[in-house]
Amino acid sequence: MKLVQHFIDGRFVESENGKRFVNINPATGGVLGEVAEGGKPEIDRAVAAARRAFGEWGTMPVAKRSAILNRIADLIDQQSEELARLETLDTGKPLSLAKTLDIPRAAYNFRFFADFVKGLGTEAFQMDDVALNYVLRRPVGVAGLISPWNLPLLLLTWKVAPCLAAGNTCVIKPAELTPTTATKLAEICQEAGLPDGVLNVVHGFGPDAAGSALTEHPDVNLISLTGETSTGKAVMRAAATNLKRVAFELGGKNPNIIFADADLDDAVETTVRSSFSNQGEVCLCGSRVYVERPIYDEFLQRMVEKARNLVVGDPFDERTNVGALISEEHLNRVEGFIERAVKEGGRILAGGRRPQHLTRGYYLEPTIIVDVDRRCEIVQQEVFGPVITVQPFYSEDEVIEQANDTHYGLSATIWTTNLKRAHRVAARLEAGIIWINTWFLRDLRTPFGGMKQSGIGREGGVHSFEFFTELTNVCVKL
Ligand code: NAD
Repeated sequence: MKLVQHFIDGRFVESENGKRFVNINPATGGVLGEVAEGGKPEIDRAVAAARRAFGEWGTMPVAKRSAILNRIADLIDQQSEELARLETLDTGKPLSLAKTLDIPRAAYNFRFFADFVKGLGTEAFQMDDVALNYVLRRPVGVAGLISPWNLPLLLLTWKVAPCLAAGNTCVIKPAELTPTTATKLAEICQEAGLPDGVLNVVHGFGPDAAGSALTEHPDVNLISLTGETSTGKAVMRAAATNLKRVAFELGGKNPNIIFADADLDDAVETTVRSSFSNQGEVCLCGSRVYVERPIYDEFLQRMVEKARNLVVGDPFDERTNVGALISEEHLNRVEGFIERAVKEGGRILAGGRRPQHLTRGYYLEPTIIVDVDRRCEIVQQEVFGPVITVQPFYSEDEVIEQANDTHYGLSATIWTTNLKRAHRVAARLEAGIIWINTWFLRDLRTPFGGMKQSGIGREGGVHSFEFFTELTNVCVKL
């Protein structure tokens, strides 16, 4: 049986008290192995190691730091088959997705920030012939990086790469449901020559455990969290103890708006992908689909047909489109949403059940629900599973108002061939990321993050460095 350990100060270790928890394969319900269960003692040791390492790493020439990060990217590429396999075992996602999205993006995250940091500048302000102000940029210190289970290595490296590129050191708390690739990343970092203590990994749970020990730690300067909105609230309270800087990427309830003049083939195809990719367990998945009344019936019929044709099953099978949900508990939670939606008057047009042919593992058929009121829980709350609602709309103003009517504001998609309308609607939607006639097309230089309760701050390009660096203005009298 495999054992996943912590990585503290350059060594793979178990917890002081020897505690472990079990890692389950969502595709079978079987046990994959055990994971060291860390708490305050492990976090304390990891933070102390990160603090010690900060001196050398934070002052290392940028070109040298960048070269190490590029080596990490190369090693991720070289071990991509193994990393994809481990990611699929932990998450239940199709191997084809892990191979084409999760792992290549993890390598690219390192390469992108390794290059970006070399071109990073600061500002200067001249006050006539009186004075000159220039700005120094330096790393902040020790960062706590807390990641979720849906895109484990992809989202972790999205934090680690800019954090390290900027010269900070870090303590990582991976999601307890998907610990393996974080420890594998630690191995890769060591092989790439990252000095001991620069990157530490402590496994364990969130509240009253490793997660809260990290967010409460007085010697941690920054917390970057990707997770649920409710977790963001708890972490913000904990971070207040010593006023840590926080960046939050939280939940979403993203609208897909399809106008009658849209390219229907493309809109249907992409909306199916944006609804059910990664079992709907992507923060950017569109889960509220609004279709303009003239094309509503046709759109719905085509969506239902495509959703029913998606292959649900063994994530290692090449033909599989939709793998297993992350855990039994999560599957039950998602089914609870469906049951309550039906009680509130919703009608299921596709899915809604566990597939009959799969007798083990945590699978759910792609589910489409209609006839729901805008106040229903299923329209308001993030489900984070392969479940969407489809609703008709009659006017531009009405759909904008409905799209904005949640406390989330992460992303949105607009489908129309009317250029003016596309820009007009984009400017009125309350979302940090808006796609027009596409979905999930990402340029890592652009700001990424959510409005309202979907997050705090932006990541990507210079925005990541704004979070991971400290600025000092120096005023020189001339
Ligand atoms: P989660 O909030 O349950 O857990 C995320 C991480 O936070 C885990 O490592 C967990 O152990 C830790 N944690 C939980 N409570 C904590 C606490 N009190 N103190 C410290 N750490 C704590 O989220 P999840 O279920 O792993 O992931 C799904 C959620 O993440 C969804 O809401 C999804 O929308 C969101 N998400 C957002 C983005 C984005 O970019 N906005 C991306 C992916 C996922």
